Amino acid sequence: MEDYINEKGHMVAKMTAQETMKLGGVGICGSCNSINQTGLDGHYIAALNDWFCNGCYEEWAERSEFYQEDVQFEQANMKRVKELFIT
Ligand SMILES: [Zn+2]
Repeated sequence: MEDYINEKGHMVAKMTAQETMKLGGVGICGSCNSINQTGLDGHYIAALNDWFCNGCYEEWAERSEFYQEDVQFEQANMKRVKELFIT
């Protein structure tokens, strides 16, 4: 996984479907419910606490709005997720 701040200001992390198992998932997109249909990669979205396949992530990133009020929630989610990747 590789976390970064996207162009809208949201905390996101590139994450493969296999890596989502560390979060307790099995690589099912939280938007279209497909299991890893667009390849191995997707994004964890801290604002939603969910993992989207790359296609859905791009759609979401396009229409998402950044809310300063969400920052603490995003930070807490990303901190928790990053801790799961410390082994
Ligand atoms: Zn999807």
